[in-house]
Amino acid sequence: MFALTFGASYTVIRYLLERFIYRKIKIIYKSIHQSNTQHLVGNASEDVITQVSDDVTTWAKERKDEIELLKEQEAYRREFVGNLSHELKTPIFQMQGYIDTLLEGALSDPQVNYAFLNKASNSVDRLIELVDDLTSISRIESGEMEMKLKKFDIRSLVSDVYEEMKDLHKDLDISFTFRQSADIEFKVVADRKRIKQVLVNLVMNAIKYGKPKGHISCGIYDMDENVLIEISDDGQGIPPQSLPRLFERFYRVEQSRNRDAGGSGLGLSIVKHIIEAHGQTIKVRSELGKGTTFGFTLKKAE
Ligand code: ADP
Repeated sequence: MFALTFGASYTVIRYLLERFIYRKIKIIYKSIHQSNTQHLVGNASEDVITQVSDDVTTWAKERKDEIELLKEQEAYRREFVGNLSHELKTPIFQMQGYIDTLLEGALSDPQVNYAFLNKASNSVDRLIELVDDLTSISRIESGEMEMKLKKFDIRSLVSDVYEEMKDLHKDLDISFTFRQSADIEFKVVADRKRIKQVLVNLVMNAIKYGKPKGHISCGIYDMDENVLIEISDDGQGIPPQSLPRLFERFYRVEQSRNRDAGGSGLGLSIVKHIIEAHGQTIKVRSELGKGTTFGFTLKKAE
């Protein structure tokens, strides 16, 4: 009799306890998963506890990763806004300086008035260039800038860019050449206008960070499905520690010296975006004092 009562009470208490625990677990599941506890029903209670423990651990890990990602994005956003306002400030303060000086009397001084207006106008150009670059980046990132793929000869596009650059920088006496590998035509499938933008950026950098009377060369190599295009210069080179950050927005190797060269620090970031939007890659190798080579791939035409 005693044993029977004990057995019955044990079963009732166990049942009530399991129900109680199960209800609590149900609440936890609802709040962490929006999932239900159906899959727990019918399992032995130890299994249920193990499974709940596993599920909660997985949930906690996922939340932790999510928080880390949000923190990273927040730091990135803060750095971006900081860089952007810094970049905007420079030309705005320059304009303000020239205009104030003109208003304070320099306007009637024929020795300087024209020069100051010219400088103010250059600062406006710099602002416009910066805004254009930012617009390009955000359009590519949001997928708004569609790549219009067509078949064309990449060698003749490099040749066009060379001609334009030669005209713009006659005074520097730079030689623009093709390596032997690029003696024949190479048909690729890509957005010609965007790839021209890439080449202009790379050749402009080769000029800006190259040397007077320097040499710029282009190599083109057949790589089975792709074509590799390399633009090399014999300029100042890039220190190894800067190479991994080179394609970041606003990154410059030497802040002050490069700023004088007039760039926004966005060029290579745009170049990388364009190449990646083609599903291709861009790499850089460089030796200080010897020169730099940028190489990117494009899909070979059938
Ligand atoms: P910028 O507008 O400053 O030229 P980019 O994004 O085009 O910005 O380039 C980023 C930085 O990479 C430059 O400021 C420069 O320090 C470095 N760089 C780019 N190309 C070369 C090169 N060919 N030789 C040496 N340094 C280069």
